[in-house]
Amino acid sequence: MDKALDLRRMIHRSRNVVFFTGAGISTESGIPDFRSPGGIWTKMAPIQFQDFLNSEDMRRETWRRKFATDKTLLTAKPNEGHYAIERLISAGKASVVITQNIDNLHQDSGIPEEKVIELHGNGTFASCLTCGTRYELENIKQRFLSDNQLPICKFCGGLIKTATISFGQAMPLEPVKRAEEAASHCDLFICIGSSLVVHPAAQIPLIAKDNGATLVILNREATALDEYADLIINDEIGEILPAAIAT
Ligand code: NAD
Repeated sequence: MDKALDLRRMIHRSRNVVFFTGAGISTESGIPDFRSPGGIWTKMAPIQFQDFLNSEDMRRETWRRKFATDKTLLTAKPNEGHYAIERLISAGKASVVITQNIDNLHQDSGIPEEKVIELHGNGTFASCLTCGTRYELENIKQRFLSDNQLPICKFCGGLIKTATISFGQAMPLEPVKRAEEAASHCDLFICIGSSLVVHPAAQIPLIAKDNGATLVILNREATALDEYADLIINDEIGEILPAAIAT
């Protein structure tokens, strides 16, 4: 808990905190991360974007997996970690949360949409890869499960995919630019629940560091960027974060 106190002091001294979150912040909400024992990738390999585009079988497999795991994502609720971040943002102490997560739990915790920067999209809805039209998952799910139908855009005939960024898919330019700007202008950058191995997202903490921010990493285990951190806390998010923001 001494480290929670260190973090609390750092937050107190800071004028602009930026948070950067990964799958680890949502495990306490019941959503498994990718790399922990029992995580998603210990069970199945990810499907590459090119395979989704090129193969009907892969598109079918993508939707099959989506609907097999959908309930966990759609019924999850924010936990103490999400609410701790929300409190610092609503108090004006932190400007934004940059997230690799696709679960919408930062928005569900009450953080306004414009203060959540999603680097890897959002898995709670789908969109057309050609014209960007938004589609709700429930309609797609019904047709897929009852008639085995793959979704196609009713406006342009494009392929519909969950609004997430797959491996091999280009990162969305606007959120990346906003994340880089936020990272360059903060004085305290706090990474939470990420192994920090997924690039280019994992470059963003280094932008903050290069621009003079203090870098904190809160994660149960070692991360790929530990050598750059000013404070490393290897502990549970749900214990440390609420303690670090307590007044
Ligand atoms: P990751 O699985 O690579 O790393 C998660 C890290 O969080 C691990 O190092 C783990 O030890 C740590 N962790 C888990 N629970 C914790 C807890 N309660 N307290 C402290 N530490 C904890 O995840 P990543 O770095 O975010 O990268 C994986 C990619 O997977 C991301 O791009 C993300 O888009 C995607 N993803 C998202 C979700 C989600 O939206 N909730 C879930 C799984 C994967």
